[in-house]
Amino acid sequence: MDRAECIVAGAGVVGLAIARAIAMAGREVIVVEAAGDIGTGTSSRNSEVIHAGIYYPAGSAMARLCVAGRQMLYRYCEDHGVPHRRCGKFIVATGIDDPGRLVAIRARAEANGVDDLVLLSAAEARAKEPALNCTGALHSPSTGIVDSHALMLALRGDAEQAGTAFAFHAPFVKARRAGEGFAVEIGGDAPMTLGCDLLINAAGLHAPDVARSIEGLPREHIPTAYYAKGNYFACTVRVPFSHLIYPLPEPGGLGVHLTLDIGGAGRFGPDVEWVKTLNYDVDPSRAARFYPAIRRYWPDLPDGALASAYSGIRPKIVPQGAPAQDFMIQDARRHGVPGLVNLFGIESPGLTASLAIAEEVRVLTAPR
Ligand SMILES: Cc1cc2nc3c(=O)[nH]c(=O)nc-3n(C[C@H](O)[C@H](O)[C@H](O)COP(=O)(O)OP(=O)(O)OC[C@H]3O[C@@H](n4cnc5c(N)ncnc54)[C@H](O)[C@@H]3O)c2cc1C
Repeated sequence: MDRAECIVAGAGVVGLAIARAIAMAGREVIVVEAAGDIGTGTSSRNSEVIHAGIYYPAGSAMARLCVAGRQMLYRYCEDHGVPHRRCGKFIVATGIDDPGRLVAIRARAEANGVDDLVLLSAAEARAKEPALNCTGALHSPSTGIVDSHALMLALRGDAEQAGTAFAFHAPFVKARRAGEGFAVEIGGDAPMTLGCDLLINAAGLHAPDVARSIEGLPREHIPTAYYAKGNYFACTVRVPFSHLIYPLPEPGGLGVHLTLDIGGAGRFGPDVEWVKTLNYDVDPSRAARFYPAIRRYWPDLPDGALASAYSGIRPKIVPQGAPAQDFMIQDARRHGVPGLVNLFGIESPGLTASLAIAEEVRVLTAPR
């Protein structure tokens, strides 16, 4: 049986960042990916926002890894020529009673170490964004956007340069204990069994399925997968904003916001649609709900300006209506299986946090 020190299942942004970190620490890594290329899952179906770390409960893994990951990501993009822009965002209150919620959001952000939010009156906000309707706003100067595909290409390049091998059309099928490590069955075009000491489950939406196929992993440590789809609509007219515009957050998501791509084109989303299956079609009739939501902060959005674009699916590990989840990064201290790390529920801000998640996994798996 061929062996590698480490197998990473999944070549999304998180699996790529982990493979890079472990390979650059001098260990031999193989990434096995079910699809034919890197980043075809959630990592290419999101808002591409570099989040500041505003909304997450103080002390949560999301708060810690988003704030650290954002700083690492800006540095990484600058050093590697990954297109990005620190454009800033406005979180806008549109109801008469909503400005109080902005104060609460700023307090939460400060507890996370995000201390650069500026509270603006409606007039101050409109002085910066004349097309905006609001009763008040928070300006986050450290929020930005990134070209997620360019980021993943750069991570793959670093990983390969550090010796990582990639196998595509190579789904993880199952693993059993073999000596101190694992024997991993890979399916697809060229089925094989590979040995490894470290097994990293970074399979995104399928991470609970992968975990269920690992012999000896107690079932009580495997969360149930729930899916919350987010649909996006492209704006076919020029958007008159230079910042990202977010409404107040809603249960399950951050609200239908305006994000800009690196080329300056605007798109709106994601909404929250709890689904049972992984289907990425966007129902054009959902635009009917987007218009009123967007017009609360951009009253002049023209009729017919929205065109259905794409969707992404949040890998939830709690059902609809339950309190918000945190990232779950599980190692042997939690589940008792040496050499195994499972990553569950890596939804937003997983893109922002990817480099910090990778560093955490590298430290967790470093030889003692
Ligand atoms: C609608 C939406 C908007 C978002 N917006 C943002 C944002 O603006 N900013 C931000 O920071 N984060 C955002 N996120 C979160 C971010 O996109 C994710 O946290 C991140 O992309 C997760 O990366 P991943 O590598 O864990 O998962 P994925 O990208 O899904 O990668 C998992 C990989 O595993 C592979 N795989 C699955 N099963 C197997 C198997 N059996 N064997 C081998 N490979 C397998 C898949 O093919 C896939 O390539 C958003 C998420 C959603 C859904």
